[in-house]
Amino acid sequence: MPTPVRKDVDYRTVRIGIDLGGTKIEGIALDDDGGVRVRRRVSAPRDDYTKTLTAVVDLVHDIEHEVGARGHVGVGIPGAISPATGLVKNANSTWLIGRPLGDDLPRRLDRPVRFANDANCFALSEAVDGAAAGADLVFGVIIGTGTGGGLVVDRRVLEGANRIAGEWGHNPMPAPRDGEWPGPPCYCGRTGCIETFLSGPAIARDYQASGGAAITAREIAQRARDGEPLASIVLARYEERLARALASIINVFDPGVIVLGGGVSNIERLYDSVPALWAPHVFSDTVTTRLVRAAHGDSSGVRGAAWLWD
Ligand SMILES: [Zn+2]
Repeated sequence: MPTPVRKDVDYRTVRIGIDLGGTKIEGIALDDDGGVRVRRRVSAPRDDYTKTLTAVVDLVHDIEHEVGARGHVGVGIPGAISPATGLVKNANSTWLIGRPLGDDLPRRLDRPVRFANDANCFALSEAVDGAAAGADLVFGVIIGTGTGGGLVVDRRVLEGANRIAGEWGHNPMPAPRDGEWPGPPCYCGRTGCIETFLSGPAIARDYQASGGAAITAREIAQRARDGEPLASIVLARYEERLARALASIINVFDPGVIVLGGGVSNIERLYDSVPALWAPHVFSDTVTTRLVRAAHGDSSGVRGAAWLWD
């Protein structure tokens, strides 16, 4: 549970964002206008919770020393802090799972700390001053090795009662076609999850299963640009699936902007092709939702963590 804000301490001078990744921990200090005052990056102590905690505390103190001010601290984590237990859950950095990060870090830093899922931080960053700036409702999606999603309303992360708002990657693929149901097994224990069709590795699997070589999604996109028929077919199939999956979000949340991040967001044709394909699946005569590429790239997670203090 978040500790109360102390009235006797001035936290307002600077926003500090921490992106707690599996291999790197990044820290940033942001000005009110979004300018970067300090950026630091350290290796994540893998498989060691106590060292991870110390690394974050040291990073915050280093940043504060450099800017000469104490800051509000927001932390983007892989996973979420369970409202039921106060412990980290759903993290692919497994050494954080079941740990009381939401209690330990505020105590070690002697101030309240805000936490959010890294996909939520991404969505917030893009909604505040990125590719979705000015939109009231924003869905942010990171598609890389997995598919994370986050919802932002009026520059605030929508966390949800179970802290899973926006996590659509483990819903089944909507309107499944022949061969898509029950679909591939997913690490979450279900089959046919959206993630099993839309992640970067899923593009590579589809290409290989269709008779192509074992190459990455990035190489497949390049081959499609070069006019290779098989790569074009695989990407077209991907686009149609992404359109169906995003249409289900539009039907529920109706965002003005959907922002794509992660490796797959570098495939430029998606921004024209996917909106042209989602209309039949959206319950509306017109669809004005825009699909855009993230403006802040890999920095969105750490910037969004800082913006948790608005
Ligand atoms: Zn799944």
